[in-house]
Amino acid sequence: MDTISRRTFIETAGVAAAATVIGAEAPKQEETPQKPKNRIIVLPKLPFAENSLAPVISAETISFHYGKHHAGYVAALNKMLPGSKYAGMTLEEIIVAAKADQADAFFNNAAQIWNHTFYWDSLAPAGSGGKPSKALSEVLVKTFGSVENCARLLAESANKRFGCGWAWLLVRDGKLVIESTSNAETPLTEKDVKPLLCVDVWEHAYYLDYQNRRAAYTQAVTEKLLNWGKASFRYAKRTV
Ligand code: MN
Repeated sequence: MDTISRRTFIETAGVAAAATVIGAEAPKQEETPQKPKNRIIVLPKLPFAENSLAPVISAETISFHYGKHHAGYVAALNKMLPGSKYAGMTLEEIIVAAKADQADAFFNNAAQIWNHTFYWDSLAPAGSGGKPSKALSEVLVKTFGSVENCARLLAESANKRFGCGWAWLLVRDGKLVIESTSNAETPLTEKDVKPLLCVDVWEHAYYLDYQNRRAAYTQAVTEKLLNWGKASFRYAKRTV
């Protein structure tokens, strides 16, 4: 190949390469002009040390519950998101959209992530969760007779949930109510419902410590570990 032919070949090859790149990119841009960015759903840090709820909930239970179950839902959802219609949405947006779509795999994993984060935020080491604020205390007494009776009714609701699920203290249409949901169902998908506290009653929440004695777990958790300080903050924020 002489000098002139070689230069011609390089120039021609360069033009061909550029044309190929342009040709490959153009149709994609036309098909998805605003393709949403992928977003990684992050596992929030535990708000307490793994051993700090013992002896009501052991460090071993927290280690499996947070490190395997909660983290597992995060890993599963992040694996499904790329390329899906939910890529780029916030966790709350995924929960609401997947519920409406009846996209069970997305909903179950996303809702379980949210519910678990809310559960950890509903608990505190014994003696450090505070008491209900004056405003919350007044409405608790008016609604349930006493703070202690509210805790007892929350445990009772958890005990009655058949199979896996959650018990909730909620503000529904401006009133305090205690309800339970099954599997991954979450009050986040309902309008005018604001959760204050929840208790996880999937067996993985208590089986290492209490085996089949769910009532012993719910009684201990609701009497000793509820984070009334955070419940009061949520109550103030969502009713003002
Ligand atoms: Mn759980």
